[in-house]
Amino acid sequence: METNTGQVRRERGRKFIVKPKVCMFCVDKTPIDYKNITLVQRFVSDRGKIVPRRRTGVCAKHQRSLSQAIKRARYLAMLPASPNHVYNISGGERKA
Ligand SMILES: [Zn+2]
Repeated sequence: METNTGQVRRERGRKFIVKPKVCMFCVDKTPIDYKNITLVQRFVSDRGKIVPRRRTGVCAKHQRSLSQAIKRARYLAMLPASPNHVYNISGGERKA
């Protein structure tokens, strides 16, 4: 079975094409800044967790600096650190 990126992988008859992902920080040369919440927020799940590299396509070097930036932003309460911190925008009272 081929597992290289860009190859067609077959699992139990299903066809699954692996797309080669590129790191957006390497391409755009965007500096990772913990004060840039709109950027950092895209790498945090709706439950406040850091999205893994395999889903975002960020390279190892930038994932390290990204996780550091997310942790700094959490400390400054600019990002949620727990699902309890996620603000419910969609209306409806949340159970205490
Ligand atoms: Zn990178």
